[in-house]
Amino acid sequence: MKCQYCGKKTVGSAVYCCAYCREKGEARERFGRKTRVPFAVMLVLAAVAAVAGVALIAAGKADNGFLFLSGGFALAGIGMLAFPRSGRSANALCQVGGTLLFALAVAVFLLWR
Ligand SMILES: [Zn+2]
Repeated sequence: MKCQYCGKKTVGSAVYCCAYCREKGEARERFGRKTRVPFAVMLVLAAVAAVAGVALIAAGKADNGFLFLSGGFALAGIGMLAFPRSGRSANALCQVGGTLLFALAVAVFLLWR
């Protein structure tokens, strides 16, 4: 097994490699459970905003479209960064994805300007 928190090899089938990782990992798991609903809500809102943005651009209202698209990306990015997932790989994905989405939001926002 690999430590759920730091990724180091653990002894036998232990989920965490040491007491420190167990404490940190379990705290993150609790946080992940608690933030599951706001996380999902934020992603849904972000998706709605992004779809609205694409629809506006398609309808020829590019200015408002880019604003919505940018807002949607930013919301998804912030959601992923603010509510880390409990799993190590899911968490890493959230960090990278959130950063990318936020950078994309800034790029689209500059396009809007
Ligand atoms: Zn560890």
